[in-house]
Amino acid sequence: TTKTRFAPSPTGFLHVGGARTALYSWLQARANNGEFVLRIEDTDIERSTQAACDAILEGMNWLGLTWDEGPYYQTKRFDRYNEIIAQMLEQGTAYKCYCSRERIDALREAQAANGEAQKYDGCCRDLPARDTDEPFVVRFKNPIGGSVVFDDHVRGRIEFSNDALDDLIIARTDGVPTYNFCVVVDDWDMGITCVVRGEDHINNTPRQINILKALGAPIPEYAHVSMILGDDGAKLSKRHGAVSVMQYRDDGYLPEALLNYLVRLGWSHGDQEVFSLEEMKQLFKLDDINKAPSAFNTEKLVWLNQHYIKTLDPEYVASHLQWHMDDQKIDTANGPALSAVVTALAERAKTLKELAASSRYFYEDFAEFDAEQAKKHLRGVALEPLQLVQQKLAALTEWTVEAIHQAIEATATELEVGMGKVGMPLRVAVTGAGQSPGLDITLFLIGKARSEQRISKAIE
Ligand code: GLU
Repeated sequence: TTKTRFAPSPTGFLHVGGARTALYSWLQARANNGEFVLRIEDTDIERSTQAACDAILEGMNWLGLTWDEGPYYQTKRFDRYNEIIAQMLEQGTAYKCYCSRERIDALREAQAANGEAQKYDGCCRDLPARDTDEPFVVRFKNPIGGSVVFDDHVRGRIEFSNDALDDLIIARTDGVPTYNFCVVVDDWDMGITCVVRGEDHINNTPRQINILKALGAPIPEYAHVSMILGDDGAKLSKRHGAVSVMQYRDDGYLPEALLNYLVRLGWSHGDQEVFSLEEMKQLFKLDDINKAPSAFNTEKLVWLNQHYIKTLDPEYVASHLQWHMDDQKIDTANGPALSAVVTALAERAKTLKELAASSRYFYEDFAEFDAEQAKKHLRGVALEPLQLVQQKLAALTEWTVEAIHQAIEATATELEVGMGKVGMPLRVAVTGAGQSPGLDITLFLIGKARSEQRISKAIE
């Protein structure tokens, strides 16, 4: 069965590039009824932080990219790595290298001077075992001659000549195993059948394959995904605005929108743009990932967000909106059900952040009417229709959208004025501002008592 993994290094938050890699890897598992492993590659102790680990898990959780195993932490697996290193030394697939820093530096300089590729010369490769306490590193005995070939799902056949590969250091002088080696042991131990990762790891792949072969481990499939560019064609970075997944939550995006956006950023299925998670799981294929770098396009993300705000179950959207209400300190205890607000405002909102901001008047009285609107609509003759509609609303025995609608219409008919002459003062009176969804639904959601209080205040 298919087993994939996402293996972030916890040196920062989960950014959109990482999230897309995670999504593709997750989809590859889900599309094939497989399993998905989360592994934290925290061996770089200086750059790894607990805060970054937490941020990555938070991002994965928010996106709903659930893992079946893990999170594993490489720093908890040192004994296992050392066990394999000892075995390799025993079997002769690795060796101790006693070359000094000075010797290695001199070698490099000489190679550079001759225009040769910089590479360890294998000086200690065939030394007889020594009984000494001199410091050493452990190097992998890379095969001599021949090449490493693999069929990448994104880039096709890739071939590296063994002679271009170094005898990789797998344990440093202090005994700490190195990054490429840990990845190999992990992928093997965790039974990973398919590695999806960024193209910046392509050069590591032949080295990792050689070590896997030396261990007699199966070789997984590989898919190296291209990088993401900003809308200006440069590599996506903080400069382009939000790059952390959680920033998108803060900015009012639904995870469904971001996932749909990310899946299309480098993968396609015909010219379809909108994919539910179910569809993604059914249709996703690594072979359909594009080789070319993808450019970020915020407008498309906004469009997808609007689409999901409008079409997902309002109860569900409300559960995400609640976060923004709390964030904006709007107490939703007194007022309409948040799902009803979602239904009323969905057409108008690009983000949940906006939606939250524009639904404040359902829950809280505003301190003042918008000055400009009040000047236009809450003065002199403009107030006449408001007085009549006030009476009609007060007389309603049932507070329904339909009844409210009729009261407004009857006012316009009776005064022989257009609906706007009734609607605008009423809108400013109950919402404080010049924009809202339909007045009937707006008043309905605000409620009778609150609407009447606000109208009286406007007439004063
Ligand atoms: N830890 C690596 C990174 O964050 C990923 C390594 C891998 O997927 O093999 O880029």
